[in-house]
Amino acid sequence: MDLYTGPINKLIEELAGLPGIGEKSAGRLAFHLINMPLPKVERLTSVILEAKQKVRYCRECYTLTDSEVCPVCANEKRDHSVIMVVENSRDLAAYEKTGKYSGIYHVLHGAISPMLGIGPSDIRLKELVERLKDDKVAEVIIATNSSLEGETTAMYISKLIKPTGIKVTRIASGVPVGGDLEYIDEVTLLRALEGRIEI
Ligand code: ZN
Repeated sequence: MDLYTGPINKLIEELAGLPGIGEKSAGRLAFHLINMPLPKVERLTSVILEAKQKVRYCRECYTLTDSEVCPVCANEKRDHSVIMVVENSRDLAAYEKTGKYSGIYHVLHGAISPMLGIGPSDIRLKELVERLKDDKVAEVIIATNSSLEGETTAMYISKLIKPTGIKVTRIASGVPVGGDLEYIDEVTLLRALEGRIEI
């Protein structure tokens, strides 16, 4: 017998499908939502909808943004000859927070993982290669995570770009192994960037 009515079960099921939320947390969240005043629930659903409808990929770097071109790519004061390749928009935000990086980015939206069946064509690599055809690009800094997937991706990108003659660098290994870039403090991030080596 089902303990809860259909709508609650449905809500728990949907919440449990979100990353990092297990069955238990989903239950807690569902009951929290049910107990919230209606206007608050309406506000929450409308901001989710608004974010979903307005947020899109930057035409240049593929980060998530609400305009056709993100503020970084649109900024002419940024050095458009240096492209930092990151796994996701959160990593981009981490580097932006340091305020010391003046180049632009390319967001892959993932990393190559043979174990999870994620191949080169499942992330935004083709788009990166396309961008490099522009002869303004002088350096590509690979700032993928130092996890197995991040390293695999870095190696793949390096091999891909080498023949073009564009300088390829990898951020220093000051970033802890398996560490998600977004959780690393700004000093470590800057040190990793400054200590980058050509690969
Ligand atoms: Zn952009």
